[in-house]
Amino acid sequence: MEAKIKKIAVFTSGGDSPGMNAAIRSVVRTCAYMKIECVGIYRGYEGMIEGDFLPMNARSVNHIINKGGTILKSARCEEFRTKEGRQKAYDQLKSEGVDAMVVIGGDGSFTGALLFNEEYNIPVIGIPGTIDNDIFGTRYTLGFDTAINTAMEVIDKIRDTASSHHRLFFVEVMGRDVGHIALNAGVGAGAEEILIPEENLGLERLLESLKKSKLTGKSSSIVVVAEGDTTTGKNVFQLKEYVEQHLPIYDVRVCVLGHMQRGGSPTCFDRVLASRMGVKAVEALLDGKTNLMVGILDDDIAFTPISEAIKGKTKINKELIRVSDIMST
Ligand code: ADP
Repeated sequence: MEAKIKKIAVFTSGGDSPGMNAAIRSVVRTCAYMKIECVGIYRGYEGMIEGDFLPMNARSVNHIINKGGTILKSARCEEFRTKEGRQKAYDQLKSEGVDAMVVIGGDGSFTGALLFNEEYNIPVIGIPGTIDNDIFGTRYTLGFDTAINTAMEVIDKIRDTASSHHRLFFVEVMGRDVGHIALNAGVGAGAEEILIPEENLGLERLLESLKKSKLTGKSSSIVVVAEGDTTTGKNVFQLKEYVEQHLPIYDVRVCVLGHMQRGGSPTCFDRVLASRMGVKAVEALLDGKTNLMVGILDDDIAFTPISEAIKGKTKINKELIRVSDIMST
């Protein structure tokens, strides 16, 4: 029989995302509700190795549900990739009396957690925190909804100025290997075209579409490009040059949204998601589960082995591509 869990550690690791604070709050409050101890670890695996711990109770997480970023900070830690680094982390956790942990992060953080569990058998549950929505086993990752709303609101503003000057804007949004942000923010903001790694639109079709936009009397055009899109072989700045060469009627500008997409107060959707995931993460540990990621599928909380979550690929919503095509008529 597994030993009873008395103290859970929670930490945020890797790329941050809005909603991480709401998830920390949920884990801490669930521990308080279940009458077990909770300790926060600063700066992910870096703080774990250094023993940078913060005992937390229900009051430690007052007024953070609405805050972007992460009060526990996040970091990337090379030392944790080494056996010696992980040994130090284990020693720190043992001397702190930690029996189990909740990691809030992306697939890199999950990979580290899994390895750590194999070596030291500390039960772990993962909460997927990344704006990219690229983790298998959950329909939504924490922060994605906030990020698409941030991107959409900015694109709305860009459209105002684009239309005043009859300009074409290439707007680059985040998404290293996936086009979820581009597709959703693009449809939401009424982009004329959306370039994502999963679909090859082709440069010819892009030019055709832009020509058509001009002919049908559109006063501005927005093309949303996922940062990881390599299907055209061009980045946003090269796309600008290409279109200027082939369609001189267009006055083209580029806007790279960058890290603003990672910040800001989380949407209601992300706060609710974080609250649900945090409760389930703690409950799962107390039920003796380990090496699982909490996700949401068909609006129900679902667990996926972390090993599958880090290997599996998410699928783009093809219906959105069709909707986008029809809307750009
Ligand atoms: P994310 O969790 O957002 O995907 P990273 O890929 O940067 O972010 O991973 C965060 C941290 O997880 C890394 O800095 C490292 O400390 C740890 N990590 C990632 N991959 C491994 C691995 N293969 N072995 C051990 N630790 C890892």
